Amino acid sequence: MRVVVVGGGIAGVFTAYFLRKLGAEVVGFGGRMEYPLTSLVLTLSMPDGEDIEMARESLAVYRELASVRPITSVDIMPATADLGSLRRAGVKYDVVDRYGGLLLARDEVAVITTDYLIPVRRVVAKLRRELGFSAEKARLAREGRTAYVVADGRSVKADAVVLAAGASNRELASRIGVELPFRPYSCYAAILLVPSWLRGLSIGDYVMSWYGRPGPWPFYIAGDGCGEAHTPPPRGYAARIARMISRRAGWAVPLYAKAGLCEGSPTGGPLAGKVGGLENLYAVGGLDGYGSMVGPAVARRLAEAVVGGRAESLPDLSEIPEFGPCVERHDWSFSLRR
Ligand SMILES: Cc1cc2nc3c(=O)[nH]c(=O)nc-3n(C[C@H](O)[C@H](O)[C@H](O)COP(=O)(O)OP(=O)(O)OC[C@H]3O[C@@H](n4cnc5c(N)ncnc54)[C@H](O)[C@@H]3O)c2cc1C
Repeated sequence: MRVVVVGGGIAGVFTAYFLRKLGAEVVGFGGRMEYPLTSLVLTLSMPDGEDIEMARESLAVYRELASVRPITSVDIMPATADLGSLRRAGVKYDVVDRYGGLLLARDEVAVITTDYLIPVRRVVAKLRRELGFSAEKARLAREGRTAYVVADGRSVKADAVVLAAGASNRELASRIGVELPFRPYSCYAAILLVPSWLRGLSIGDYVMSWYGRPGPWPFYIAGDGCGEAHTPPPRGYAARIARMISRRAGWAVPLYAKAGLCEGSPTGGPLAGKVGGLENLYAVGGLDGYGSMVGPAVARRLAEAVVGGRAESLPDLSEIPEFGPCVERHDWSFSLRR
């Protein structure tokens, strides 16, 4: 079976990796490498049991490819938070009412688990190289109900085409008249200086709504939700994050803020499957702010479904009410609010 993969991020390279393992011939178009040099965080502390399973599976995949650094994870939550998903999935955790120099209110707790720093840029670059991805951008084209790819003026035909181009998925598909259930949005992050005891921690503050993790020494990277696609962080964004961190840790100095593109789905989590109306087009997306946590597991499922000829169809957008892409299922704040 010959498969063309469009997109060279976590979703694309891992789909290609598993397709190859299953015996498919893969042609990959990766576009620009967009990952930062710093590691991304993989956490098992999530409110959805299936996400925890996929994160465990993804962690095992990364461990075969690179060295993965464990790091203490501190999730600040209301004392009444329901941690049933962690209990049911057998995630080891402690609930404490104080941790290091963190300032917690009387009705708040810190949930301590282990997160992992994944050198995503290194892993993705290695797989791109090994799988022979080109850095070219490709576009989709169709002949009736069959999709194919055009890159550098050449048409590339295959038994299956997998669209895995992150925030560009929607636009690439719309050019061949297909509406995908994904929406791009801007995710913001601030670079800060923080007290040294905080610098080594992965923190999710689900009361105030920010997450933070080590950046390149001596910096700390922290952010929160999201905004409209292609918009820069709002004015004063880094200062706002610094104020929240200061309330927890005594002080934080904002340096600057950056925006990146993420992609959401109506479920607030990843979706992968066959695109309705076409015989050979598949798409994977909606990895939201947690692609490094669940991406390899989602990609494995898609690769198996493509090769086995039993992929489910993606939801039909006309049957879905308008959805806000900023809902991230992995983020405890959303489940705590319900
Ligand atoms: C600031 C920030 C911090 C984050 N931190 C974390 C974290 O700590 N942990 C975590 O799990 N997740 C984190 N994320 C989210 C994570 O980066 C995404 O979920 C993940 O990258 C999505 O993977 P993807 O492969 O779907 O898309 P992308 O990573 O966007 O990859 C898409 C790829 O497709 C390529 N492409 C686009 N158009 C074309 C085309 N026409 N032809 C060929 N190729 C094309 C692009 O160049 C790109 O290489 C963060 C995101 C941001 C912005």
